[in-house]
Amino acid sequence: MKTLLTHRPSVIHDPPHILESIVHGHPLPAKHFRLEVDHDGIAWLTFDSPKASANVWNEETLREFNHNLESLEHDTRVKALVIRSAKDRIFVAGADLKGIRSMPPGRVNDLIWLGQAVFDRLSRLHVLKIAAIHGACMGGGFEVALACDWRIASDHESTKIGLPETQLGILPAWGGSTRLPRLIGVRKALELITSGKLLNAIAAKKAGLVHHVVPKEHLETLARRLARGKRPKARFMPENLFGLPLLIDRMAKRKVQARTRGLYPSITKAVDVVTHAVRGEIEDGLRLEREAVAELIKGAESPRLIDLFFKREEASKRPAAAGTAIPIHDAVVVGAGVMGSGIAHTLASRGVRVLMTDVTNDSLARGLERVHGLVSEATRRRLVSRVQGRDTLDRISTTHTPVPLTRHHLVIEAAMESMDLKKKIFADLASRVADDTILATNTSALSVAELARTVPHPERVIGLHFFNPVHRMPLVEIIVLPETAPDVLATAVSFVQKIGKTPVVVKDSPGFLVNRILVPYLMEAVRLHEKGIPVKDIDEAMLEFGMPMGPMRLLDEIGLDVAVHVADTLATAFPDRFPRSNALDKLVQAGHLGKKTGQGFYRYKDGKEVLEDGHFDLPNHESIRTNLALLLSQEAMRCLKEGIVRSADDIDLAMVLGTGYPPFRGGPVTFARDTGIIDY
Ligand code: NAD
Repeated sequence: MKTLLTHRPSVIHDPPHILESIVHGHPLPAKHFRLEVDHDGIAWLTFDSPKASANVWNEETLREFNHNLESLEHDTRVKALVIRSAKDRIFVAGADLKGIRSMPPGRVNDLIWLGQAVFDRLSRLHVLKIAAIHGACMGGGFEVALACDWRIASDHESTKIGLPETQLGILPAWGGSTRLPRLIGVRKALELITSGKLLNAIAAKKAGLVHHVVPKEHLETLARRLARGKRPKARFMPENLFGLPLLIDRMAKRKVQARTRGLYPSITKAVDVVTHAVRGEIEDGLRLEREAVAELIKGAESPRLIDLFFKREEASKRPAAAGTAIPIHDAVVVGAGVMGSGIAHTLASRGVRVLMTDVTNDSLARGLERVHGLVSEATRRRLVSRVQGRDTLDRISTTHTPVPLTRHHLVIEAAMESMDLKKKIFADLASRVADDTILATNTSALSVAELARTVPHPERVIGLHFFNPVHRMPLVEIIVLPETAPDVLATAVSFVQKIGKTPVVVKDSPGFLVNRILVPYLMEAVRLHEKGIPVKDIDEAMLEFGMPMGPMRLLDEIGLDVAVHVADTLATAFPDRFPRSNALDKLVQAGHLGKKTGQGFYRYKDGKEVLEDGHFDLPNHESIRTNLALLLSQEAMRCLKEGIVRSADDIDLAMVLGTGYPPFRGGPVTFARDTGIIDY
């Protein structure tokens, strides 16, 4: 195995322990890879980890991959190498995060060296190298592809390509930060790396990440054709030359600072590494990557973000504890308003046939128009293809007449927030659906139990609380009653997962979880304003904390009438802790309902905020911040004690996904525990 070091990147003068172990270790038996050389001299190296749905990089897979490279270096028959995966939906999912999570920092650094050395060896292999990508190709998965000459991808919806490391508080350090800017230019590389976005195949081709996109069945033929040809020509990248990357560095840092307020060191660091790594030799870039990760993994941000990642993964896959889930292919959405049309769009885009109902043809037409708008936007942004967009629209039908609904297993009610109206709708639905249909409500704050009492089968009633805008918000609160049948809950959980959302199961209790935690915080923000603190300062304080939007602006977005309604529900349930706000009442009485009426705490014209003069900064943002952050954590701890949800993890996850609570802080429970601000 000496060749790893002979072919090592020159920067690896002093191989750490892990590289030594490879040099002196025995070759591993073939377990994760199959290597077949055909009579055309094409070596097909297939990644297929046994008994796993995903391929990931860890010490074992990297070592075995390295061993294969070594044998290829000596094989004179070989003219080209094609790297592919045998998995259904995954090329390589990246590094083995489970392994990394339990490693001491020193070992993580070793693993970085190892990956860099192995991928560098791949890049130096004398034959033509082709990555044939089908399925998720993320992080280290894309970095191995970056070390190849050609990258071709299947047009399948599971093919998603990108470098999401900054979302986990680190940065691409197996050559990604160094090779990507060389391939697509510093600016686009920065965009991809600092956002951590994953692109589908069409978008990946447009961005220059892959050379060709073909149907999965044609990947092999295309790889064969490319294997007979030459290397692709490198594109000329003027922006990578002279001092330009450093200029871009300054601009990008300003942008990142405005977006993250310096709260995400991995993103700032990534800008640094990418703009510097594009300048010198590859080896210099790799060194910068290693140094940056060594520093980042010492901080608190990355472990919290990785923890959250696992919490979300688990919640997105874990079935309900009991009951059997029934697959839902057809659903009814009652109400074609903002939420109803958003829900119909999301369901249809995930393959569910939807019957959308409303009281008039006009409301249905407006609802369909909203769905059309969402589909056009997704097509324009290349999130979906034209065909996928058309299929989504084709799956939605509408009616305003009371047709029988016996074919549908799930009805989601999203009419206006009025108990009387919802009771009427539920009673009417009960007479038209099959006995085993699940009746769900999207209510924000009404009692699901009270609604359930209006139908003959309350055990089939559940809350499915989607957030606005439905296509963007990843969370769905599933509201359960003591009498909810286990099969109903199991079906709801699996349905929410199927449509690509993360479910959090919550007991039927006023405000459920997210609104309950938000309301005291929002009301306190209003109270501070009543005491004379300018709205801008209150918002600014929470932006500094890392919230994506300050509380005053959030109130304007939600609509002050809606906020009053939710706050009233909570004030009735917990009169000692949720006082009513006169300021809010006054604004609502004056018809100032927030953005939708052009005036709330801010003034708006044509949907845009009108900038006010006379704003001044108060120096005490910190006390506002602490006060408001404390309220979020306090209510979160109360919900935990009351057993509204199963675990603290569910609360943290729900607040991050449902409100944008700063992920690097882990969530309001983690924040309370880490800072010790609450004695519990
Ligand atoms: P909306 O006013 O935009 O839409 C309500 C729709 O229901 C209207 O099109 C109306 O014509 C229709 N409707 C009324 N009576 C009906 C009936 N008998 N049958 C069928 N349709 C009927 O309201 P929205 O903002 O979409 O809210 C809907 C529900 O979702 C409410 O319960 C609300 O609390 C909840 N919710 C709203 C948000 C939000 O931010 N807007 C977020 C989460 C949950």
